[in-house]
Amino acid sequence: MHTRGYVARTARTDLTPFDFERRELRPHDVALDVLFAGICHSDIHQAREEWGPSTFPMVPGHEIIGVVSAVGTDVTRFRVGERIGVGVFVDSCRRCEHCLAGLQQYCSEGMTPTYNSLERDGTTLAFGGYSNHFVIDEDYAVHVAETLDPAGAAPLLCAGITLYSPLRRWDAGPGRKVAIIGLGGLGHMGVQFAHAMGAEVTVFSHSATKSADALALGADHFVVTSDPEVLAAHDTRYDLIINATSADIDLNPYLRLLGLDGTLVIVGLSGVPVNIHQELLLAERRSLSGSQIGGMRELQEMMDFCAEHDITSQVEVIGADYINQAWERTVASDVKYRFVIDATTF
Ligand code: NAP
Ligand code: ZN
Ligand code: ZN
Repeated sequence: MHTRGYVARTARTDLTPFDFERRELRPHDVALDVLFAGICHSDIHQAREEWGPSTFPMVPGHEIIGVVSAVGTDVTRFRVGERIGVGVFVDSCRRCEHCLAGLQQYCSEGMTPTYNSLERDGTTLAFGGYSNHFVIDEDYAVHVAETLDPAGAAPLLCAGITLYSPLRRWDAGPGRKVAIIGLGGLGHMGVQFAHAMGAEVTVFSHSATKSADALALGADHFVVTSDPEVLAAHDTRYDLIINATSADIDLNPYLRLLGLDGTLVIVGLSGVPVNIHQELLLAERRSLSGSQIGGMRELQEMMDFCAEHDITSQVEVIGADYINQAWERTVASDVKYRFVIDATTF
């Protein structure tokens, strides 16, 4: 299928327009006309090789909302005309205990990322969502409610699930104190989810200008961290703190804020190793953990939760010719709160 998109050809060059072919439909494949594709900070990290060597040419994008345009002969879950979402991976082994448990993101053989990877045949480059068409095996796509604004729904496929999953795993809910570090694409979804789940929510941000937005999104408290004294003087004890920043920040001041058995979960991935003062973990039997997106079952659960609670991302919709500027602004924390590309502009 002839497809137009945007490509990164090296780690040091701007993205440029790109024409390529998507595969013809296999029996379990669904074709979609992409409506919107979100810009995740992971797109930038990978295209700039901030996590190590990448695979080029790279068509980034793993927050994809579209409309089904054709289905393979054996497809049962989707109909033409239906709204559909594709996230961070497009395949996995389907046999290991994690895949069978619906935790495909932790597949023992490794999931197949939506881009910056080879498909499971070991030779075909996987091209992501910065494009006008997509082809996906139906088992790796989700249903998206028509009531959700499609542009605002695109970031749910990565930013949304990446915060929803740890909030569920570590029991965000009534009576629990939850803090989110970094009010970016991920963080602003986490605030909405934690609030909807009934937790008391605090945002730690290095941008004083985001205070009103944080409270409007459902935060109960907003703490500006650009002055280290403020953080040092803060004395609330949290049950759960999620680091959703893209930068190499010192996590020790946050570990200190966890109560007994509290957990600091890392979802932000700067690519820089972290230094931890061990005594902060020992002191109150605190835990440090990480969490990676979410599996297919939980992705659908989150989509349904969003429809039920009317939760979407706050987005700035752009044309494809603005992608390079949008990346610069994302790195500068200058987006409220997710860039989403209008796929008709590819
Ligand atoms: P983003 O929209 O750019 O947001 C990152 C936020 O980090 C910014 O809005 C800012 O929040 C904060 N920040 C940025 N620079 C900072 C600095 N120098 N000091 C302190 N805070 C800073 O990024 P995103 O798309 O939400 O992604 C966040 C991170 O999560 C990225 O590293 C991404 O690769 C990773 N990620 C992980 C997963 C996973 O499965 N675990 C999935 C998706 C993304 P404030 O302005 O409020 O301080
Ligand atoms: Zn992402
Ligand atoms: Zn597997």
